[in-house]
Amino acid sequence: MSHSYTRMRENKIMKIQQLEVGIVGAGLGGLAAAIALQQQGIPTQVYEKAQELQPIGAGLTLFPNGLKVLDAIAPGIVETLKRLGSETHQVKLQSSTGDLFGQNQLTLTEKYSYPMLNLRWSDLQATLISRLPTEIIHLDHQCVDFASCDRGVQIQFSNGQTSNVDLLIGADGIHSLIRQRLVKDGSPCYAGRLSWRAVIPYQDELLSQHTATIVNGAEGKNFLLVDVGNGQFFWSAGALMAEGLQSDSPETVKSRVLETFANWAAPVEAIVEATPPTAIIERPIYDRPPLATWSDRNLTLLGDAAHPMVPSLGQGANMAFEDAWELAHCLAEQPTIAAALASYEHSRVYRTQIIQVRSSVQGSRSYDPDSKTVLLGVMEQAHVAQAAFEDWLYNISLER
Ligand SMILES: Cc1cc2nc3c(=O)[nH]c(=O)nc-3n(C[C@H](O)[C@H](O)[C@H](O)COP(=O)(O)OP(=O)(O)OC[C@H]3O[C@@H](n4cnc5c(N)ncnc54)[C@H](O)[C@@H]3O)c2cc1C
Repeated sequence: MSHSYTRMRENKIMKIQQLEVGIVGAGLGGLAAAIALQQQGIPTQVYEKAQELQPIGAGLTLFPNGLKVLDAIAPGIVETLKRLGSETHQVKLQSSTGDLFGQNQLTLTEKYSYPMLNLRWSDLQATLISRLPTEIIHLDHQCVDFASCDRGVQIQFSNGQTSNVDLLIGADGIHSLIRQRLVKDGSPCYAGRLSWRAVIPYQDELLSQHTATIVNGAEGKNFLLVDVGNGQFFWSAGALMAEGLQSDSPETVKSRVLETFANWAAPVEAIVEATPPTAIIERPIYDRPPLATWSDRNLTLLGDAAHPMVPSLGQGANMAFEDAWELAHCLAEQPTIAAALASYEHSRVYRTQIIQVRSSVQGSRSYDPDSKTVLLGVMEQAHVAQAAFEDWLYNISLER
C-alpha cells in the first residue's frame, strides 16, 4: 500500500514531454483527460478494469459549459456530436395524468454559443475514443493498489502487471479505489432513489423532436423523455426506493419500472413497454459531501471520483470534462507537479462544491411528493433565480 511517499518528483522542475501520466478509469472523464493531456503533449496511458468499454449510461445530456470545454480539447468534436445527437429547443413540464404545467423555449445557443445536446452514451464514448491512439488504452487493467517508487507512483493491477508513472489520476468513478486510499472517506451515500435509463428507436405523436419532456407524479416519481436524434428516444426515470433493491434480472427490472409508473399518461407506459428488458439500466443514485482537497503529492482525482453528484442538473460528465481541460493546462503551465495540482484544485474545488450542493438540493426537490408545487417551482426558478446560476454555470471562461 501507498503510505510513505519518500522520494517524489513532485517538486522537481518538470519537462512535460518527459512526464508519464497514468489515468485509472476509461469512463467519460478519463477519456477526456487523456485527450486533453495529449493535446498538451503530455505522454499518457489509460488503465481500465473492464474487458471492453461499455456504454454504461444509455443516454445523457451535455450543456454549454461541457461542450465548450470538449471543443477546446478536441477542436471540431462538438460538430460531430451534434450530427450524432439532438439539441433540445424546448422543455415541457407535465403531470403523470398528462396535464401540461408549462413549457420553456431554450435560448442556450443564443446566450452561450452551445446548446443542450442529448446523445447516446455509446456515440459520445466512441467519439472520445476516436480522438485517442488505441494503444494508450489498456483494458482488463483493474487497479488494485499503488505505492511510491523512484519515478513517483507504481500502479498495481489485478492481472499482475505494474506501471510506474510521475502522476496518477484517479478517474475511477463514484466507487473510486484511488479516492478510498487517498481520502479514506468510506462509501458514497445512497440518495434514496433508484434510476432507470434506456435509449430505443421510438415514434409517438406526443413526442416531438428537439423537445425534452419532464413528467412528475405523486410519491416523488419522475420520468424524462428526450429526443437523442436519428429516430431514437432516451428515457430516464427515478423513484424513491429503499437501498439494496437493485436487481440483476432484466425482466425483474422492467417489471419494476412498469409497476412504478403504472397508469401514467401516454407515452410513459408505452415507451417502457416498447423497451427490451436488456436495454434498461437500473442504478442506485449516490453522492458524497464535497471535499476541500483531493490531491496528494503525485496523486489526484477527476470526475465522479473527486466530486460525485446526483444527476439532477445533468452536470456530472460536464464537470469531468472541465476537470480534464483544467488539469491538462495546469500541468502544462506550472513548473512542478505540486504546483500544477495546487492550481488544479484552486480552479476546480469551489466550482464543483457548488454544483454538488446545488444538485443535491434540486435532486431532493424533484423527488418531492407534491409534484405540482415542484413543477411550478421549477418553472419559476427557470425564469428568475436560475438565470444567474446558469450564467455562472454555462458561461465558462477558458481565458488563461
Ligand atoms: C441516472 C444518471 C444520469 C446521468 N445523467 C447525466 C447527464 O445527463 N449529463 C451529465 O453530464 N452527467 C450525467 N450523469 C453523471 C455522469 O454519468 C458521470 O458524472 C460521469 O459518467 C462520470 O465520469 P467518470 O469518468 O468520472 O466516471 P465513470 O463514468 O464512472 O467511469 C469510471 C471508469 O473507471 C473504471 N474503473 C473503476 N474502478 C477501476 C479500477 N480500480 N481500475 C481500473 N478502472 C476502474 C470503470 O470501469 C469506469 O470505466 C448521470 C448519472 C446518472 C447515475
